[in-house]
Amino acid sequence: MDSKVFGGLEAGGTKFVCAIGTGPDDLETIQFPTTGPSETIAEAIRFFREKAGPRLAAVGIGSFGPVNLHRGSLTYGFITSTPKLAWQNTDLAGAVGRELGVPVGFDTDVNAAALGERRWGAARELTDFVYLTVGTGIGGGGFVNGHLLHGTLHPEMGHIRIPHDLSTDPFPGCCPFHGDCLEGLACGPAMDARWTKSARELPPGHPAWELEARYLALAINNWACTLSAERFLLGGGVMQQPQLFDLIRQELARLLNGYIAAPEVMPPALGSRAGVLGSLALGQQAYEGLRS
Ligand code: ADP
Ligand code: ZN
Repeated sequence: MDSKVFGGLEAGGTKFVCAIGTGPDDLETIQFPTTGPSETIAEAIRFFREKAGPRLAAVGIGSFGPVNLHRGSLTYGFITSTPKLAWQNTDLAGAVGRELGVPVGFDTDVNAAALGERRWGAARELTDFVYLTVGTGIGGGGFVNGHLLHGTLHPEMGHIRIPHDLSTDPFPGCCPFHGDCLEGLACGPAMDARWTKSARELPPGHPAWELEARYLALAINNWACTLSAERFLLGGGVMQQPQLFDLIRQELARLLNGYIAAPEVMPPALGSRAGVLGSLALGQQAYEGLRS
C-alpha cells in the first residue's frame, strides 16, 4: 500500500543530511558534503524523488543561516547573508518545493532540532525550553509558550555578550563579527585556539572545562531570566564531554543564587538525529498547514 512519507532536510554548512520516513523508527537517511548550492540541492532532490516518489507528502528543511522566515516576503525560504559566499541569497525552500511539488516547511537548523526533541526526544510535552548546540559555532532554538521563537529575523543565541574577564582569560575570542561574544569565547574552535590543542584532547580535569562551563552557565542564566525556560538541552561536539554538564549545573546554581529555580540542563535525546528528525517534523507541520 502507498502510505505517505515525509522528507527531512538538515542543511548544514559542512554537510546535508536527508531523510524520509514518519519518525525515528522508520527513518532512511543519507548525508553528503555541502558543495555549491545548485549541485547540493539537486542531490537532495534526487534522494527524495528516488526514495519516496509519489508517496512524498511534504518536506521540512532546517537550514544554516541567516535565513528569511517571513512568509509573504519575496525572499522567504532563502539563505540570506551567510559568510559562505556561494550560498548567499540562495532560494533553498523555493527550489525544493518547485522541484518536488509538495508543501515545504522551513526554519533554522536549531529550531528544527528543538522541534525534533519536542516531538520525539527530551522535551516532549514541554512548552518552554531551549535547544543549544555547542560545536563549530553556537546556536540555539527557543520554544516558548508552546511555539518556536522567530522574532524579526530569528534568534542568534550564539552571539550574545557575556562578561569576559581578560585578566583570567586573555583569549580575545574568535567570532569574526564580535570577537568575544559567547560563540567567540566558547565554541569548539575557540577552545582549540585558547588552549592550542583540540578540545577533544583536553583531559576532563583540565581548567578548560571549568571556564567553558562558566561561559555556558552565564549564557543559560541570561536565557533562563529572559525566556523563562524550564529545560536546556545541550548538544554538539563540545558537549560530548560529559563532565561539562555537572560543571554547568553547579555554576548556574551559583549565578542564579536561589532567586529563581535553576532550569534543568541535560543532553538531547535524539543525539545527532535531532536536526534531521526535526526537519521531518517541520515537513509534517507544513503538510498539516501549521506555522512552525
Ligand atoms: P558542527 O558544529 O560543525 O555541526 P559538531 O557539533 O561536531 O559539528 O562540532 C564540531 C566541534 O566540536 C569542533 O570544534 C570539535 O573540536 C568539537 N568536538 C567534537 N567532538 C568533541 C569532543 N568529543 N570533545 C570536545 N570537543 C569536541
Ligand atoms: Zn559573534
